[in-house]
Amino acid sequence: MGGVEKMKYVVVTSGVVSGLGNGVAASSIGTVLKACGLRVTFIKIDPYLNTDSRTMSPSENGEVFVLDDGSEVGIDLGNYERFLDVELTGDNNITAGKIYQHVLDKERRGDYLGKTVQVIPHITDAIQEWIERVALIPVDGREGRPEVCIVELGGTIGDIESRPFMEALSQFSYRAEDNNFCLVHVSLVPVIDIVGEQKTKPTQCSVQSLRELGLKPNLLACRSTTPLNKNVKEKLSQSCHVPDDCIISLNNVPNIWHVPSLLIDQKCHEAILGILGLARLTVEPKLDAWMNIARTCDQLHAPVRIAVVGKYTNVSNAYQSILEAMLHASVVCQRRLVVDWVPASDLDIETANESPDLHEKAWGLLKGADGVLVPGGFGHGGVGGKILAAKYARENNVPYLGICLGMQVAIIEFARSVLGLKDANSTEFDAGTRYPCLIEMPEICVGSRRTFFRTKDCKSAKLYGNVNYTDERHRRRYEVNPDMVGELESAGVEFVGTDESGDRMEILELPWHPYFVGVQFHPEFRSRPGKPSPLFTGLIAASSGLLDAGMLQSPASLENGNGPVAMKVASGASGGGGYANASGLEEGLLGLHVSGAALAH
Ligand code: GLN
Repeated sequence: MGGVEKMKYVVVTSGVVSGLGNGVAASSIGTVLKACGLRVTFIKIDPYLNTDSRTMSPSENGEVFVLDDGSEVGIDLGNYERFLDVELTGDNNITAGKIYQHVLDKERRGDYLGKTVQVIPHITDAIQEWIERVALIPVDGREGRPEVCIVELGGTIGDIESRPFMEALSQFSYRAEDNNFCLVHVSLVPVIDIVGEQKTKPTQCSVQSLRELGLKPNLLACRSTTPLNKNVKEKLSQSCHVPDDCIISLNNVPNIWHVPSLLIDQKCHEAILGILGLARLTVEPKLDAWMNIARTCDQLHAPVRIAVVGKYTNVSNAYQSILEAMLHASVVCQRRLVVDWVPASDLDIETANESPDLHEKAWGLLKGADGVLVPGGFGHGGVGGKILAAKYARENNVPYLGICLGMQVAIIEFARSVLGLKDANSTEFDAGTRYPCLIEMPEICVGSRRTFFRTKDCKSAKLYGNVNYTDERHRRRYEVNPDMVGELESAGVEFVGTDESGDRMEILELPWHPYFVGVQFHPEFRSRPGKPSPLFTGLIAASSGLLDAGMLQSPASLENGNGPVAMKVASGASGGGGYANASGLEEGLLGLHVSGAALAH
C-alpha cells in the first residue's frame, strides 16, 4: 500500500505472570495487521544482560533460535518468523547486554564528551534510537521500509531488569505523535475453580503498575481459559480505563494458529488500526489459507508417532522449532503428530543399572515410534543414548532424521558398528580418540550457508524439489573428518550434499534404508506453516508409510494437500484437539502455560 508515512508502533507488554504467551499474541497481532495489507516488522526486547543467546542453555529460556545472519536469539523471533513468514536480523532482538555494550563502547570512544554516563538519558536514548533504526529494516524480502513495527517487551511488568526499557518506552510514547503508538497489555484473568468466577484483580494491579511506570494501555489482551464474560469486560474497562471493544479475550484455543482469527473475531484489528489512524488505508483481513491450516490440524486423525531423543526433553520449548517443523509436515501429510520425548541418557546402559524403570520406559517409547529424530546438541550429555537411537533406527529400518549432532552420532555409530572402529568418536567428546570421525573446524559456523547436492538421485534432493542447492541455517563447530569420508562411503554411507568447496559433508543418506537422513544444518528454523521443511516432510511421510517412489517424484502433490492421502484422512475428522500427548505437547504448543485451574491448585 505504501501510504503510511510515519512508522507506527504496536508495543506489547505483559503482566501478572510470565509464560502468558505474549510472543504468540504479538506474532498474531502481526499476522492480522499483515492480513490487513500492512508491511509489519518485529523487535523483541529481552531485558537480561546476555548480549545474545549464544551461551544460554535451552533450559533457561527455551531453544536458541538462529537467524540467516548468524545471530543466536530468543525463541520469540522464531514464532514471529513462522507467523509472518519473514526473515529477521540479529538487531531485531534487543537485550540489555547489547544496549549497555553499545553505550559503553561509545563511552570509551569519548562520544559522550566528558559527561557522566547514566541510565537516563543515555541507556534510555540508546533503546529508543535502536528501535527507530531497526524498525526501518525490511524483513519481508521486498524493498522499502515496513509500515508497522511490533515491539514486544519480554519479562513481566515490575521486573527490575525491564525498568530502563519501560522508561524508554514511556518516553517513546510521549514523543510519538498522535496515532503512532499503540500499547497492548497482555494479562491474565484466572478462574477460581470453586466459584468459577473470572477474576480481574491481577489485571487491575498490573495496569496500575504500568501507569506508575508512565504507560497507559490502549488494549488489554486477557489470557483466560474461556472467553471473558460481559460483566468482566465492563469491570476491566471501568477500572483500567480501556474501552470495552479494546478488551480482547485470549481464551484457550485448540492450537496457536487459531489466535489470529480469535483477534479478528473480536475486531482487535479495527481497534488497533483506529488508534494508529490506519483504518482508511487498510483492507479487511483475509486469513483463509492460514485458517485452513489451523482447522486441518484440529481434524487430523491418523497418528504418526515420532520419538525425539534429546538432552532437554523435560524442558518445554527446548526444541520448539523442531516441534513446529514436525507439525507443519504432519499437517501436509495429514497425520496427527504424537511426539514421544525420550531423554537420551535414559537409553544408556548405565541407566539400566541405576534406574531400570526409566531405561525400560525410554526403550519402550523408542520402539513404539514410527520415526526417530535426534536434534542438535552440544557437549557430552546423552550422547551415548543418541548413538543407540541412531543404531536402532538404522538396524530396524525405522525412519531417522538426524539434525547436526543427530547426523554426527549417526556417523559415530556407523563407524563403530559397520567399520568396526570401536573407539570412533567426535573430538568434541574424546579429544584423543584413535578414530576421529568428527573434528573441530577452524571457525564456528552459524547462520545461512549454501549446501550443494552432489546428485539428484537421492531422497533429500528429490524432497527439496530437484534443486541444485539449498540455503539452510547452521550452528556448529565440528565437521565430518575429510580423511574418513572415503572409508565411510565405501561402506555404504552416501554424502549427497556438501558445501561449495565439496570438502565439507552436509547431508548423509543410507540409500538402502527407507529414510535415514542426517544433516549438518538446522532445517527446522526455516520451516513455516503451509511450507514445511522438505526433510521434515520426508520424515513424517516415511514414518506414515507415505514416502514411496511416487511421492519422491512429485513431493508437490503432498504440499497441495490433495491426492489419496489427504482425502483419506480428511473424512476421518475426530473433532479432537489433536495435539495432546502425555508429555504436555499441547501446553508447549500453545506457549500459554498458566490456566486458571493451574493457579487454583
Ligand atoms: N556439537 C556439534 C557441533 O558443534 C553439533 C552442533 C549442533 O547440533 N548444532 O558441531
